[in-house]
Amino acid sequence: MNLNSAMENSVRDTVILGTGCAGLTAAIYAARANLKPLVLEGHEPGGQLSITTLVENFPGFPEGIQGPELIENMRKQATRFGAEFMMGHLVKADLMQRPFKLDFGGGKTAKAWTLIIASGASARWLGLPSEQALIGHGVSSCATCDGFFFRGKPITVIGGGDSAMEEALFLTRFATKVTLIHRRDHFRASKIMLERARKHEKIEFLTDTMVEEVNDVSKKEVTRLKLRNVKTGKVWELETSAMFLGIGHEPNAKMFTGQLDMDQDGYLKTRDQVFTNVPGVFACGDVQDRRYRQAITAAGSGCAAALEVEKFLEEHGR
Ligand code: NAP
Repeated sequence: MNLNSAMENSVRDTVILGTGCAGLTAAIYAARANLKPLVLEGHEPGGQLSITTLVENFPGFPEGIQGPELIENMRKQATRFGAEFMMGHLVKADLMQRPFKLDFGGGKTAKAWTLIIASGASARWLGLPSEQALIGHGVSSCATCDGFFFRGKPITVIGGGDSAMEEALFLTRFATKVTLIHRRDHFRASKIMLERARKHEKIEFLTDTMVEEVNDVSKKEVTRLKLRNVKTGKVWELETSAMFLGIGHEPNAKMFTGQLDMDQDGYLKTRDQVFTNVPGVFACGDVQDRRYRQAITAAGSGCAAALEVEKFLEEHGR
């Protein structure tokens, strides 16, 4: 939509930040409640589903559905009921009094009686061009989503924290062998998770090792990783069918520092699933969920956030 028409002076009933599963579900519910939500696309329109391929665990699609198609369907559904979409992301917010003042940069601002934060968490990547080129084609940051596609094949996991251990253990269900690659020989993972992974017969550890290149970009599939031992300098290649990143996520909530309660890693703290410490501000999806991180749980919390917005507007007036 036209940016300027969205920036009218009137106060919005609700503004939704983010167009992943959580934000779009919140948009569908808020739009059907006639709240005409303004939905900000954010830095990664469509969220994590938009960079994945086949989604087989979202209920209702017996044959699975492509991530981008699922997102596009949700977007159309929200648009049909009157949600307005706008490119851009929040630069600054004043949540101290209602209506909340939102600043999208470049002189664009909006006011809203309520705010739904669905800005997600971005997976950390190694940042290699070959890795980026193969995301969705053997490179993944979600074992639960994509592990199934590599059954009967060797799989690699990167990282030394609990996420990497959890992914490696989960992937043993499918893989012939899981190679866990970590850049140091000390682990951040909890003792119990580390021991469980170490004891598993299918998991092999490669420490002090970094990935230098993911092959084969020309075939659009992962076949080998070029590795380097950071202590000895030795370079070699490992055959594998997939590389799963388990090196953490960054919640997209930095713009609320000092206004909303966060945990030590910057995830928004919520009570009763979606309530932040500021009345009228709700958070849903991965920006407040470090535990489940699934499309369906994000959608569920987006629904809850929109229902709470409706209730809040009824109780507090506009
Ligand atoms: P984390 O604890 O921050 O670990 C990230 C790991 O990735 C570290 O080993 C780090 O290496 C490595 N790493 C980071 N950037 C890298 C890079 N560019 N290249 C190579 N390696 C890199 O993150 P997490 O494992 O996602 O865990 C986050 C939090 O969630 C933790 O508190 C964890 O306990 C919790 N969690 C719990 C569970 C569970 O209990 N079931 C499951 C998942 C997560 P260095 O060590 O060298 O920095």
